[in-house]
Amino acid sequence: MASILPPSVDQRLRTGITEFARSMKGYLTNEAVMVGVESRTSSPIRIPRDRSTFQHTTVRGLYPCGEGAGYAGGIVSAALDGQNVARAIAVTYAGS
Ligand SMILES: Cc1cc2nc3c(=O)[nH]c(=O)nc-3n(C[C@H](O)[C@H](O)[C@H](O)COP(=O)(O)OP(=O)(O)OC[C@H]3O[C@@H](n4cnc5c(N)ncnc54)[C@H](O)[C@@H]3O)c2cc1C
Repeated sequence: MASILPPSVDQRLRTGITEFARSMKGYLTNEAVMVGVESRTSSPIRIPRDRSTFQHTTVRGLYPCGEGAGYAGGIVSAALDGQNVARAIAVTYAGS
């Protein structure tokens, strides 16, 4: 980490990781493969979609969904968005 991060960030991460390891046994061990930094955010774009049908605002039958489309930022929000879109598809095509 020291070779790629500024000293202020490297030092804070070292302190934080060491602190965290005190409360979570096994987090910091010699068997760890890698400790890294997640440095990007979720999708910087959002594909437009209708609020009620969940379809693209102009492309019928296209259902932008989840992180890549700009509607989720993590596992749970992606799962819930997928569930909502699946329900909308069921309503549209099966009428239920
Ligand atoms: C390193 C890392 C760590 C993360 N840690 C966390 C965490 O701790 N907690 C958290 O909540 N979130 C975390 N996330 C974010 C989380 O993983 C994503 O937000 C979530 O998985 C997005 O789900 P999704 O279904 O929208 O997209 P994805 O899970 O990316 O699913 C998209 C799917 O589409 C498939 N696909 C792509 N192109 C095509 C194609 N042309 N045809 C057919 N299939 C295709 C892909 O193979 C993939 O299976 C992390 C992400 C990364 C990268």
